[in-house]
Amino acid sequence: MTWTIQSNSLKVEDLLTEESLFFTGNGYLGIRGNFEEGYDEEVKTIRGTYLNAFHDIIDLSYGEKLYAFPETQQKLLNIIDSQTIKIALVHDGKEEWFSLFSEEGEILSYERKLHLNKGYSERVIHWRSPSGMEVKLRFKRIVSFTYLELFIQEVHIEPVNYTGTVKIFSTINGDVSNFVDKNDPRVASGHAKRLEVTNVKLENDIAAVEVEAYRSKLKAACAVSHRLGTYGDMNHVQKEKSIETTITFDLKQPITLTKTSIFTDTLRHGNQPLQKALEIQYSLRNKTFDEILLEQEAYLNDFWRYADIQITGDDKLQEGIRFNLYHLLQSAGRDKYSNIAAKGLSGEGYEGHYFWDTEIYMVPVFLMTKPELAKQLLLYRYSILDGARERAREMGHKQGALFPWRTISGTECSAFFPAGTAQYHISADIAYSYIQYYLVTKDFEFLTHYGAELLMETARLWMDTGHFHEGRFKIDAVTGPDEYTCIVNNNYYTNVMAKYNLTWAAKAYDILKEHDPDRFHELKEKILLDDHEAVDWKKAAEHMYLPYDEKLNINPQDDTFIQKEVWDFENTPEDHYPLLLHYHPLTLYRYQVCKQADTVLAHFLLEDEQDFSVIKDSFDYYEKVTTHDSSLSSCVFSIMASKVGYYDKAYDYFIETARLDLDNTHGNTKDGLHMANMGGTWMAIVFGFAGLRIKESGISFHPSIPRQWESFTFTLQYEGRLLRVSIGKNSAIFQLEEGEDLLVKIYDKEYQVKIQEPIEVQLENI
Ligand code: BGC
Repeated sequence: MTWTIQSNSLKVEDLLTEESLFFTGNGYLGIRGNFEEGYDEEVKTIRGTYLNAFHDIIDLSYGEKLYAFPETQQKLLNIIDSQTIKIALVHDGKEEWFSLFSEEGEILSYERKLHLNKGYSERVIHWRSPSGMEVKLRFKRIVSFTYLELFIQEVHIEPVNYTGTVKIFSTINGDVSNFVDKNDPRVASGHAKRLEVTNVKLENDIAAVEVEAYRSKLKAACAVSHRLGTYGDMNHVQKEKSIETTITFDLKQPITLTKTSIFTDTLRHGNQPLQKALEIQYSLRNKTFDEILLEQEAYLNDFWRYADIQITGDDKLQEGIRFNLYHLLQSAGRDKYSNIAAKGLSGEGYEGHYFWDTEIYMVPVFLMTKPELAKQLLLYRYSILDGARERAREMGHKQGALFPWRTISGTECSAFFPAGTAQYHISADIAYSYIQYYLVTKDFEFLTHYGAELLMETARLWMDTGHFHEGRFKIDAVTGPDEYTCIVNNNYYTNVMAKYNLTWAAKAYDILKEHDPDRFHELKEKILLDDHEAVDWKKAAEHMYLPYDEKLNINPQDDTFIQKEVWDFENTPEDHYPLLLHYHPLTLYRYQVCKQADTVLAHFLLEDEQDFSVIKDSFDYYEKVTTHDSSLSSCVFSIMASKVGYYDKAYDYFIETARLDLDNTHGNTKDGLHMANMGGTWMAIVFGFAGLRIKESGISFHPSIPRQWESFTFTLQYEGRLLRVSIGKNSAIFQLEEGEDLLVKIYDKEYQVKIQEPIEVQLENI
């Protein structure tokens, strides 16, 4: 049961949310869960098909444009729509079109499902037409994990009390627009229409449309074929921007129609995407839905073997965690052009941009379960390193690389610099994920070819941004993760992450010099590296200023945070949250109020920088002033509540994350799923309850279990091993399933875990 997400809702107000929840994707192609037959005019829908990173360029407009403000931004485009399949029963010469919302006719039963272990979604409907004719309809769809360009739909029509003519109207349509909302800063406010149809072609019953983005000139194409499981008439009408296909046949017994759509674009398929879409269509058009389904299942068997988390004693949360992992898999970019957008490929919120969300909240999940996918995500960042170097120059830095706060193709897309460009920490976050990748995989090749260069260029940024003052290295005028406190000096999070970045740049220097002198010299020449630089990096790291307040025994978020007045939470009405939609930023900046975890997050990522008591007192302090208005917050508080021993709290925060989208608790799931939070759910279990940490010294655990659970089990990939961890009410079992013996630290003791020799450790704190 917990492998299936199900809904029976036919409420119009649930539609938009379910379009996101039931989206199908594969990291390249994402299709919202819109209904094939469409809706009536007045029903609101966001009908969307997206190719990861396929974007247009649009002007950013400012009332007052200052130096180095980005002039343009990228925007993920909604492209060619091939979802439409309408069905009519032709009774006494009259066409009765099927609709779930029509006032006439009747829906006798309805359910929709997303099968997380099989990789398809379906809707099953028993419909009675206005004149009393009944049919059962089943719509299934797959966006293939095996053939990234492939979207396949199957419609099964079963007569109940009707035999006779059925008419199907299926389209491929290039006349599409993006969604806009003028009142929500989290979605686009304009530029709905950004595509032009450049070609419409009909060839051997294959209908194809090509579109071009106005300004980026990127092209995308889609080629569609139909196959009917009986004799029927197929006619096509070629229009200026679409092709309409009408199929009529006699319904006497159950009939299946298969519609196969192939999507291509110029980023991945060369200059003639339409040609390429046709080619792929010819090679795949004979594959049946069931064949694709089998391949889909095989792919998912492999994924779940590594990624599944089993929870006994809590079906709702079990459903939530699998749902979240599945959508992460559906959204992660599979090539160097793409990454994971804040909303994945499920919607248009944040315009398809990539943020630090990937490195801090999503890479860890893939890194520990499917490291090859994590590597892909890191390669994307490497591919925009040149752009980051350029951006650093533009921002007045003599050296280094500054990654854009939000982007698709590599340039800064944030128009609001205090909560955008000023979040310099993104460069350290990316560096952090490169270091974690190295620690988990020991992929030396990757370090020498990509990691070292990126670590050194980001380290240079810190050298150029910060300065020595009274013997300490300080960083001024940046914004940390908390977007309710902007442009501050010595944000604890930024400083400590920069410190780690600098330390590891120097380490990478030493490792390369010793183990791969050829590459070392090559890199030195490439980035004109002076020997004294590594010494400077170490020195800055060692002297990094990390704010600490003795009286409170906490790390202040920055130099002025704790001097400010605390926000008046008591007198803030419930409906004024999220605060960002009700207060001017300056009002928020003047108070101690956090949108999300900031110092608390730093204490998770780099826990050895502070004593336990500072971490605990800081947790208590920041908890009181954090609104969790960002969905990136609760999971971090859950992890850290586990760390400081607040086990019930850890569970409460965890619940917030696990079903955030399924229950639409933030109210904006319609704009797409909250991908960082989805990664955060996994993190709250694995880093939180199980207490996993990855450090240079090795892998360690601090296991605990929520009282509400019987047990939970997950597997991890680490240094080529597969480790299974099962935590029950009283003990934790560590079992090596693949690979050589592994030294694991559990609580404060080290154990040698061997194949066939599980280690069982009694839980502390029960
Ligand atoms: C959060 C950021 C996050 C962005 C995209 C904002 O609301 O404050 O930390 O990167 O959403 O998810």
